[in-house]
Amino acid sequence: MRVLITGGAGFIGSHLAEAYLEQGHEVYIIDDLSTGSLANVTPLQNDARLGHRLFVHTDTILNQDLMLELAGTCDVVFHLAAAVGVHYILENPLKSIKINVEGTEKVLEICAKFKKRVLITSSSEVYGKHLHAPLVETDNIIYGPSSKFRWSYAASKLMDEFTALAYFRTKGLETIIARLFNTVGPRQTGAYGMVIPRLVSQALGNEPLTVYGDGMQTRTFTYVKDVVAGLMALMACDDAVGEVFNIGGTEEITILDLARKIIARTGSASTVAMIPYEEAYAKDFEDMLRRVPSIEKIRSLVGFAPVTDLDTILSRVIDYQRLTMA
Ligand code: UDP
Repeated sequence: MRVLITGGAGFIGSHLAEAYLEQGHEVYIIDDLSTGSLANVTPLQNDARLGHRLFVHTDTILNQDLMLELAGTCDVVFHLAAAVGVHYILENPLKSIKINVEGTEKVLEICAKFKKRVLITSSSEVYGKHLHAPLVETDNIIYGPSSKFRWSYAASKLMDEFTALAYFRTKGLETIIARLFNTVGPRQTGAYGMVIPRLVSQALGNEPLTVYGDGMQTRTFTYVKDVVAGLMALMACDDAVGEVFNIGGTEEITILDLARKIIARTGSASTVAMIPYEEAYAKDFEDMLRRVPSIEKIRSLVGFAPVTDLDTILSRVIDYQRLTMA
């Protein structure tokens, strides 16, 4: 099979590419390297077993001619290219909306032209500021006002979902939507705000660990290879078409406890520094205080279950960062 992955040089995309290559498939990547990095895919290109089946294009998904060529060549499409990371969204508000809304529409239009099944990665952000758990795919959503720019990401991802579902309903395009919760593992960079790589690198550098707000906000974290297994299972499942699925973990932890765990696991001399939100982010920021998925829908359809616990995830991220810092 030939698999097209938009955003394939990113953190999740590169792991997805690796998994398909390992299974003997051909993988085509298009990535504009806005947050992705060729360093994520060069080890795959240099691997004699895998590299000859990997084709990487450094370009934007808004390049219609290239996208037509790639989508025409491939059997299935994973659309992961997006502006991601809270810091990145706040610093690039217009660019983020453009790539997330216009980019996805273009990808869907091209997939519809060639009738290629497409999986769109959405985000747990679409739920907005719920306090209840677990979040079910059919839950209502609650956003803050448009003056608070964080919600532009949620709204743009929600628009992607509507557009994908509309293509399914009106044109019969086989679309699948995966709402990814906090996904972590090697190759993730802390440069755009993601908490685990940031705190791990602070701990390894014996710097204070920056915990925002009162640290009582919670998240669940899922290992990237578990997420990739879920994405591949959905793509292979006819009954997933036209549906929305949460993909995430079930182990809820406060960010303060996460910071303490990272200090303990790295044996670091670091302390925790509590940083008010006003200092951490641009003004008009609003955090999500809790985010726990129900994974019943994907579990019952394709048997998805995350197998990697938080301690193991942290060990792997710590090992990876030690190796890349060395
Ligand atoms: N966070 C933190 N310190 C950091 C980076 C993030 O306390 O250095 C917090 C952030 O405010 C949020 C949580 O960690 O409550 C997860 O942040 P991340 O950006 O990784 O993902 P989000 O779930 O917010 O998209």
